[in-house]
This record gives sequence, C-alpha cells and structure tokens, in this order.
Amino acid sequence: LNIGRDKRLFTPGPLTTSAGVKRAMLRDLGSRDAEFLTVVKRIREALLTTAGLTAGGAYEAVLIPGSGTYGVESVLGSAVPTDGRLLVLANGAYGERMATIAGRLRLAHEVLRFPEERPIEPAAVDGALARGFSHVALVHCETSSGLLNPVDAVGDVATRRGSRLLVDAMSSFGAVPLDLAGSAVDFLVSSSNKCLEGVPGCAFVLARRQALLATEGHARSLSLDLFDQWRGLETNGQFRFTPPVQVLLALDQALAELHDEGGVGARGRRYRANQRCLVEGMRALGFLPFLPEEHQGPIITAFRYPRDPRFDFEEFYGRLSAEGMLIYPAKLLAADCFRIGTIGRLFTSDVRLLLDAVGLVARAMDLAPS
Ligand SMILES: *Cc1c(COP(=O)(O)O)cnc(C)c1O
Repeated sequence: LNIGRDKRLFTPGPLTTSAGVKRAMLRDLGSRDAEFLTVVKRIREALLTTAGLTAGGAYEAVLIPGSGTYGVESVLGSAVPTDGRLLVLANGAYGERMATIAGRLRLAHEVLRFPEERPIEPAAVDGALARGFSHVALVHCETSSGLLNPVDAVGDVATRRGSRLLVDAMSSFGAVPLDLAGSAVDFLVSSSNKCLEGVPGCAFVLARRQALLATEGHARSLSLDLFDQWRGLETNGQFRFTPPVQVLLALDQALAELHDEGGVGARGRRYRANQRCLVEGMRALGFLPFLPEEHQGPIITAFRYPRDPRFDFEEFYGRLSAEGMLIYPAKLLAADCFRIGTIGRLFTSDVRLLLDAVGLVARAMDLAPS
C-alpha cells in the first residue's frame, strides 16, 4: 500500500487525509452489523459535539450519503414547504449553486446577490426579508473566493423577521467555530471530506429538532428526504439504503483525530497558520490574493493571475502537479484567479514545499514578478 506517496492536495476537497483515516477503510462491515451501528451512533454524537452541542439537546445529526451538494439539496428540498418562500443569498459559486437547486426543485425563491469580494450585508438581507420569506439560505465560507460570510449577523436578522436559517457550512465546519447552541441556525450542512479530513462520500445535516420535525412529508425526493433519513437512523440506527460503510469508518477515525488535535479551535489555528504562510510566501513570489485581508478565511485563498502574458494556468497547474502539488482553478466572475486550499492533513512544512515548487515553476515559465 502506497500510503503517503500521493500528490499533496491544496484543493477544497477531496483533501490529503492522514494514514490513520486511509487505514480505517480497510474493513468489510455489514450495514446492519452491531459494530457498524455503533460507528454510526458515535459519528452522529461527535458531529454534535464538534458544533458545541450534546446528544439529546436541541439539534439532531442526520447523515446523507453523497457529496456535499446532496446534503444541500436534501435540506432545500425538505425544509421549504410548498407554500414556503426561500431567499438565497449569493456572493459566489456555492451561493449560486443553492439558487440552481432551488430552481431545479421549483421552490418559490428569490436570489439576493452581492459582489464576490464582499461579505453578505445583513442590512440588505433585512430589507429583502421584509418582503416575506419563510426561509433564508447562505454559505458560511464561500469556497469560490475563500471569503467568510457573517452567519451570526444574518441569523439575527432572520430571527427578527421570523425566517428559518439554512447554512451551507461545507468548507468551514470543524475549523471555523460556529456556536450552534446560541445561534439562529436551523439547518447546517457539511460533508465528510472538508475540514473534518475524512474521505468524500457522506454529507451531514445538523438540524434544530423542532425545525426538522416540521419537514415531515415535504421532501421532493425519496433518497434525499431529510426527515425520513433521520427517522430511519432514530428507529433502528440504520440507513434506509446502502450506507457508504468505508466512508463512515474513515469519518469515525477522522473525528477521533480532530479530537486528538484539540478540536475545532486547534484545527482552525493550524489552517490559519497554513494560510498565513501561504500568502506571505506567494506575495514574496509576486502573486496577489484576490480578497482584501479582512474578508479572507483560513480555508482557501484565491490568487489573481499574474499580468505577465507568459502566465498560462494550464501550464502552471501541470508543472506544479509534476512537482507533486495540486492546486485548483477558480470559479470567480470578477477576476481571473486560481485557488490554493490550506485544509486537509497539511502543515506549514507542506505549504513551504508548495512555495518552493511555485518558485521553481515561476522561474521555469520565466514569469516576471507582478
Ligand atoms: C465543497 C462545497 C460544497 C459541496 O460540493 P461537492 O462537490 O458536492 O462536495 C458545497 N458548498 C461549499 C461552500 C463547498 O465548499
């Protein structure tokens, strides 16, 4: 087994995982086996703990097989009833994806857009909610730019206007603290393969129980029915359909490693250190971040293409890949950018190796500093 020989993934997921997480998957367990059901129970409890909650409190953890988008689609399609109205807040590609889902599911909805380089403005949200929306949805870390949106401030507005709050916390959960207990969040979605450092294949939803119970019978999909999925897990501890067994074994191990690292605070500090090291090094090489520093989160950083006409992203990407370093294209409308993630089982020592490779590639491409 070539554990540890793969390229380093400086991407927004899938990510570089630990050897322990990879090893945890080398099992065959039956989906109704007691050992597996114990794993599922432990994961659901650990997800609540990671959000600062306890089992038996006001929130429930529901596991939804699939990538993160399946979780978002499950929440939007289950939470908003036929007579409900959803306001989608968007300042990047993942906000737009929620709008696309709302359109595809034919939910009554509106989209309130903000520039990609600026956080969502609670005052503007308040003005829009005054027109009457049962639900409002936003992305916490907009992974397309790396920006952090003000979930708490939008939550205050949603509470005042009586709207339920749905949060795509896909790329922030497990590293950017969000205190659910005292929050207005009714549904939070994340997945196994971002800051929890598991492998791809399972999304999860932390739902306020009272809001979850109100979704009964509203889902537009059988496999993505949030309420039925929860009821299945509650009644016999099982998934309704074939569970991603190895993904869950990996997630169980990943959650144990998060705990060993010191929890959300410690993980966030590691990512922040990675991100600072990255930006400092990239600036020294002439690459400028897209976002102003005050809006930049620790998860992923967008860098502008250098003005040098010799810069070609495909070539840059290919040469870095040949050095064992994978970066990511950007999905930004405002400027030509590429992105570098600083999450996963990576440390500042890995970031320094990436910076060495970027310097090497920039010299090979004969790029002039910006
Ligand atoms: C990764 C991510 C998703 C989900 O993407 P998948 O490709 O379905 O895993 C959704 N929202 C945000 C903010 C993300 O970072």
